[in-house]
Amino acid sequence: MSNIAFIGLGNMGSGMCANLAKAGHQVHAFDLNTKSIENAVHAGALAATSIAECVRDAEFVVTMLPAGKHVHAVYFDDDGVLAHANNSALLIDCSTIAVDEARSAAAQAQQRQFKALDAPVSGGVAAANAGTLTFMVGGEQSNFQQATPILQAMGKNVFHAGPSGNGQAAKTANNMLLGISMIATSEAFNLAEKLGLDAQTFFDISSKASGQCWSMTSYCPAPGPVPASPANKDYEPGFAVAMMLKDLRLARDAAEGAKALIPFGEQAERLYAQLDEQGFAAKDFSVVMRQLQEN
Ligand code: NAD
Repeated sequence: MSNIAFIGLGNMGSGMCANLAKAGHQVHAFDLNTKSIENAVHAGALAATSIAECVRDAEFVVTMLPAGKHVHAVYFDDDGVLAHANNSALLIDCSTIAVDEARSAAAQAQQRQFKALDAPVSGGVAAANAGTLTFMVGGEQSNFQQATPILQAMGKNVFHAGPSGNGQAAKTANNMLLGISMIATSEAFNLAEKLGLDAQTFFDISSKASGQCWSMTSYCPAPGPVPASPANKDYEPGFAVAMMLKDLRLARDAAEGAKALIPFGEQAERLYAQLDEQGFAAKDFSVVMRQLQEN
């Protein structure tokens, strides 16, 4: 049993924190939102009223925050983690942030004798609640090994992607692929329908042919073929357009820095920005299908 500080009890963090407590760890939970702390206590965690109280005796500090600026503030502000934790604590940031932000957080932490990992996740709220997330981890091998049992309490796949920032690099490339493949899958279903095939017939054929992909077989954007997909629930998320847009912007920034060409990634970003402007930010990212059908 380890002593774990968990900071950021939102849509994802609440389930992750609950799974750590369920696994028998002593989890001190903190969020700016006191209601979220109360919910964490109901799920077996101990309430903390500040970051200082949360991290005081922590062996691991897990963060699940909206973006890079929040991670840097929570780590490095005067009332933040590094000012109050023991430097034997291993910092594990599970938020999705820029590769550069993750690398600079780890470097600054190291300068102050702290060990840090970036460990973003794939899988949405349902996977966070069920403890079936996939973790992609960047940082030193020995730190990865130390973190593995903690991550396994929250996920079913835990990968070491290489040095600091490589977890975020894997996440950003993966989610850019997901954004592109969701648009491509939607285009294919829309074209097939306009050419006279119903969604089920096209699904039966393409899911056994070379067009098959996760966006089709696990998360089909056309209503019907995959009962659990958001397309059958008026595109309620799932994974929201705003989240996909955030990830595509991170991918574009990373690609600019790395001088990697991502023509389809850029196109996908434009399309999701349009959906966001049109008021679909809170809809599932597969709503792109309905937009194509209606235009
Ligand atoms: P969320 O907005 O629901 O939760 C973030 C939480 O952080 C909130 O409860 C907020 O109050 C808290 N917070 C913000 N600043 C804080 C501070 N200074 N101190 C303490 N708490 C603070 O977001 P989410 O959906 O849980 O996503 C969290 C991260 O996971 C994001 O980086 C997101 O990109 C990533 N992610 C989300 C999903 C998803 O499906 N929601 C999937 C994969 C990855």
